[in-house]
Amino acid sequence: MNEITLLDREFSVYLTEDEIQSRVTALAEKISEDLKGQDVLFFGILNGVFLFAADIIRQISLNAHISFIKLASYDGTSSTGKIKELIGWNEDITGKTVVVLEDIVDTGSTLERVIGELKLRKAADIKICTLLFKPEAYTKDIPIDYIGFEIPNSFVVGYGLDYDGYGRNLKAIYKLTK
Ligand code: 5GP
Repeated sequence: MNEITLLDREFSVYLTEDEIQSRVTALAEKISEDLKGQDVLFFGILNGVFLFAADIIRQISLNAHISFIKLASYDGTSSTGKIKELIGWNEDITGKTVVVLEDIVDTGSTLERVIGELKLRKAADIKICTLLFKPEAYTKDIPIDYIGFEIPNSFVVGYGLDYDGYGRNLKAIYKLTK
């Protein structure tokens, strides 16, 4: 299934299931090595991260907690730049090592907001792990510790990422063609 149509848009395969899974394994191994011996809180940012979070957490060999927050800033295929809602901060973060899990970092506004909250809540150490990163769209200077794939500045769907709610269940990642 190299080409797909979702609503009014066509997409072609960009990262296959195998490419994604082997990168997820490599990221899990690196994080487990770097944070060896630590008790770590993984913080997934919903909705897009749900598949990435489920896959990476099962390969992490650390004492880990996982929690999710929800925060949406996207409408259709172009970033609104507006942060709408932020729910689910029910973990005590004080003094903890936190790994923020993101499906994709685009402008970085979402990340900036989450990092700001984690600092206010006195996390001891904050690491950031994103499956996808769009360097051309990134407007912040927050360093990202773990990146799965750097991708061009075009719209992608699949493996948790949606187009108007569709496509999250696709195993591969697809790029907008027209
Ligand atoms: P940022 O705050 O970094 O601009 O955007 C982050 C959020 O926008 C992501 O968590 C994701 O929900 C959404 N987003 C950014 N780029 C894309 C994309 O190419 N495809 C999809 N489906 N969502 C995206």
